[in-house]
Amino acid sequence: MALLDGKKLAKSIRKDVREGAQDFAKRWGRPPTLDVVIVGEDPASQIYVRNKERACLKAGLISHTHRLSADLSQSDLIELVRNLNIDEAVDGVIVQLPLPEHIDPDVVIRAIGPIKDVDGFHPINLGHLFAGRPGLIPCTPLACMRLLDMAEVDLKGKNAVVVGRSMTVGKPMAMMLLERHATVTVCHSRTEKLAHVVAEADVVIAAVGQAELIKGEWIKRGAVVIDVGINRLEDGALVGDVEFDTASARASWITPVPGGVGPMTVACLISNTLEAAKKRVA
Ligand code: NDP
Repeated sequence: MALLDGKKLAKSIRKDVREGAQDFAKRWGRPPTLDVVIVGEDPASQIYVRNKERACLKAGLISHTHRLSADLSQSDLIELVRNLNIDEAVDGVIVQLPLPEHIDPDVVIRAIGPIKDVDGFHPINLGHLFAGRPGLIPCTPLACMRLLDMAEVDLKGKNAVVVGRSMTVGKPMAMMLLERHATVTVCHSRTEKLAHVVAEADVVIAAVGQAELIKGEWIKRGAVVIDVGINRLEDGALVGDVEFDTASARASWITPVPGGVGPMTVACLISNTLEAAKKRVA
């Protein structure tokens, strides 16, 4: 088994983004800029946002964080997003999810200008992805694909099983694998005989959010395993959706949790921000 080291790849992406950001700044007088909006005090979201700020700083991007109170109205949030859309000095806009219950995330995501939608969640960007056209791609599936590319996995004709069908991870991931000519199966909470489906996979992408749901003994020998899940156990330890020790004894490549998809997701966000900035001025 070989470890797919997300931290190492993220570092090399940050270096590339830093170089790209310097070129951009030389030409346009300022580095690419990401505006992050966070509503409320969700502790996990606070950590994610701090990681994004840190990644921007390391890569020489400007980041602004708009920290707003949990009782902000949906219309005030949309007004802020619209102002960021028309602000010439802003290249990327993300609204950290989840939002408080009184705010509909779909409405907010649709308010983000598609050219600044560096999370890639806007229906126009998802539409491009589903049509196989270029656009801003959601960061987590992009991170998984870059990890597969680092391992030089040839996806053509291979059985890829994606466990999880969210709009942010599972579905766009399936489309990206299809675009690379994999034969794709998408599993979800109603899938019968999950163990049998996973056992047929040359590539497994686990994006469920249930600690060690996918047992090591299900993994086909030599399969590539990408574990998106982040689950905190009662003792405070972080584990993925895949039973790591037993799966790593069978897999050819596997991502660790932490240190796999997580750091790569943030690296892909800053990479998307640079791309958005370049496209806006092109
Ligand atoms: P969602 O809760 O939106 O989706 C989870 C999916 O898993 C759903 O499609 C659900 O099926 C499916 N599911 C639930 N139970 C089962 C089961 N027993 N068997 C098979 N499928 C099941 O989660 P996300 O996609 O947002 O995130 C998934 C995980 O990835 C989480 O742990 C999250 O923290 C992590 N994550 C990590 C990121 C990173 O950077 N590393 C970034 C984003 C997410 P159904 O549709 O039928 O309900």
